[in-house]
Amino acid sequence: MKILAIESSCDETAAAVVEDGRNIISSVVASQVEEHKLYGGVVPEIASRRHAEAIVPVVRQALEDADCRLSDIDAIGVTYAPGLIGALLVGVNFAKGLSLATGIPLVPVHHLRSHIASNYISNKELKPPFLCLVVSGGHSHIVMVEDYTKMKIIGKTRDDAAGEAFDKAARTMGMPYPGGIEMDRVAENGNPFAFKLPRPAVHDAPYDFSFSGLKTAVINLIHNSAQKGVELNKADVCASFRYAVVDCLVTNFIKAAEDLEQKKLVIAGGVSANSLLRRTLAEECKKRDWEMYMPEKSLCGDNAAMVGSQGYYEFLSGNIAGTDLNAFATMSIEKG
Ligand code: ATP
Ligand code: MG
Ligand code: FE
Repeated sequence: MKILAIESSCDETAAAVVEDGRNIISSVVASQVEEHKLYGGVVPEIASRRHAEAIVPVVRQALEDADCRLSDIDAIGVTYAPGLIGALLVGVNFAKGLSLATGIPLVPVHHLRSHIASNYISNKELKPPFLCLVVSGGHSHIVMVEDYTKMKIIGKTRDDAAGEAFDKAARTMGMPYPGGIEMDRVAENGNPFAFKLPRPAVHDAPYDFSFSGLKTAVINLIHNSAQKGVELNKADVCASFRYAVVDCLVTNFIKAAEDLEQKKLVIAGGVSANSLLRRTLAEECKKRDWEMYMPEKSLCGDNAAMVGSQGYYEFLSGNIAGTDLNAFATMSIEKG
């Protein structure tokens, strides 16, 4: 079964053709990041306008690369929540129009569920149930994936997402948006023990995260030394911050796995590309003889291939949208 998938939740306009939820036939991602860099973050109105310009050529390209006509497509999958509302509406309305014109069924896909599904492409043998750490620009969740379309939130951030904390700390150091990637690269040459940073925990909620205190601590460190005219070693700051974020993520994730007796761990979302997170979790799982899965780095960020994968499982579970499909800025992954 071939799904044409469309993603426009943030600043990537993407389309893909995916077969049986597991195999990418084509995948096109048009990123707007260079334009948003000028403003230090995504400007929602610009994002919507760029999606409107890019959506037709991107979908055409995905079909052409797959050597497909619309008549070869069995379903259209589209990201409908959560994300920037104006951005989501471009993809949703385009997909609705296409579905209406062709009679091809339309499948609504939750963005975070699709991040998790990127793992089904990278790890062909992976099947639920498993425990997943979803860490991205806007979310940090520990999710029990009971089945492809049945999820339960075990823990989540009380304030900033991990990616957001990386981006804001990096911006204070003058790194371009999105700073998480650059910070990860620079951190490789730094000493993670150079600066002592807090590991904020949430009282009585051992699986929840809180990153705003940690973010403020590193921003204060940078500002205070600048005021005193002290030059900080950038690599050491990056390494210490990355170590602190990864420590919080891994500690809670492992504790949740132990308490819930889960021995199959998965990571997903933009931050799952982080080298230290990948290394540390792989080591922790190996020590315990647990299975550990992650998406290949190219599928960690936003793309439509992952939408095609999750869309396949949503279709199989009977999740077909009517012509009244709407987009939603927020929606729980459990409702999806
Ligand atoms: P969401 O998925 O929550 O709606 P989003 O789609 O904007 O948000 P993603 O595209 O999944 O987020 O991920 C982007 C985030 O991942 C950015 O915050 C970026 O800095 C971060 N990121 C990407 N690579 C790395 C890395 N190697 N280390 C740390 N963070 C990273
Ligand atoms: Mg993006
Ligand atoms: Fe995302």
